[in-house]
Amino acid sequence: MPIYSHSRLGTFEQCRLKYKYTYIDHIRKEGQSVEAFLGQRFHDVMEKLYAERKFKLPTLDELQNHFNLAWDKNWNNEVFIVRKDRTTEDYRKLGLKAVEDYYKRYNPFEEGKMLGVEKQLVFHLDENGQYRVQGYIDRLMEKEDGHYEIHDYKTAGSLPEQSQLDQDRQLALYDIAIRQKWNDVKKVDLVWHYVIFDKEFRSSRTQEELVQLKKETVSLIDTVETTANFPPHQSSLCNWCDYQDICPLFSHRHKTEVLPVNEYLKEDGVALVNQYASLEAEKKELKEKIKEIDGQQEKIEEAAIAVAEKEGASQLYGSDKILKIKDEVKIIYPKSGDKNRNKFLEYLKTLGFWDEIVDVQWNSLKKVAIREKWDQKIPEGLKNLVTIETEKKISLSKKKDDDN
Ligand code: SF4
Repeated sequence: MPIYSHSRLGTFEQCRLKYKYTYIDHIRKEGQSVEAFLGQRFHDVMEKLYAERKFKLPTLDELQNHFNLAWDKNWNNEVFIVRKDRTTEDYRKLGLKAVEDYYKRYNPFEEGKMLGVEKQLVFHLDENGQYRVQGYIDRLMEKEDGHYEIHDYKTAGSLPEQSQLDQDRQLALYDIAIRQKWNDVKKVDLVWHYVIFDKEFRSSRTQEELVQLKKETVSLIDTVETTANFPPHQSSLCNWCDYQDICPLFSHRHKTEVLPVNEYLKEDGVALVNQYASLEAEKKELKEKIKEIDGQQEKIEEAAIAVAEKEGASQLYGSDKILKIKDEVKIIYPKSGDKNRNKFLEYLKTLGFWDEIVDVQWNSLKKVAIREKWDQKIPEGLKNLVTIETEKKISLSKKKDDDN
């Protein structure tokens, strides 16, 4: 079984296809989001700050220069910016401001004994050491004997809620790790620095919570190990995914968005989608039109019925069509779910034409009602169960020669 990490498990939870590309197919991608690049540069500065502070505390200027140097040295064409309204310099300034805020907030950095920066830990979740996990702690501190602090720098553009941090898996796994490594651990604080916002958040875990986390993580690893199906899962995080060019959800977009406009519009897939969308729009327009016409016809029907009544006529003649107005029997009977439904069905069975009704369903009921003249005298047993009404129905037919 491979050694797992929080980010490996997180990738599985985010999108199984991305997990497959990364950890099973080992497809390496050069691309890196500007947010991840900025995060790395901030970490560079923290490494320098905490490595040097025991000799001589670097000044803010020195740290910002270090940030700029690391930025220029590492910047490359593979770094991509998702937000089109932002520039490289916007992100560089954001990083410099984060360094300044951090420096001013914690200067003179007497936060305890520093035990490690970017400290690698490999630990296990079970007695047999079968389920192994590794991670890197951004900064491990000891506040006083046996009181540890696990610090993590985040350059995310949004803040988590405290409830999310209280459930956070990454630092809690590191908590398990240091309790395994050292016997003197009495207390562990988990500390997040959301440096873009100049905010610090803290949380801690009880022994019971850590036991539960071990169980859940072992169960998640079991799921990963037995998974054979790796479907894509679309989310807002796809914008930052390096595999868009091969992912079935985005490969066509990726392939076509670089084409010149004339080639783009002729590309088979693009042309078909555009044609389909245009027909769909046409359909929508027609449906709207039909709805409008239905409304107009309804008004005409009302007017035609009024004219016919006034004329004492049942047919109105146009140039080559006739509007026929008929009285139709309408039976309002208990529908399924109605408390009288069974009584109604039982009574129909006693009438002697049940087969006739059932065979042809409820249209036949209407025929029976007309034949038996229920509109004039409704059978006693149906009286409280159905209502018989007559309504005007209009139909349009062609005028034949003998209609003239
Ligand atoms: S683009 Fe989205 S759906 Fe496709 S592999 Fe990446 S994360 Fe998964």
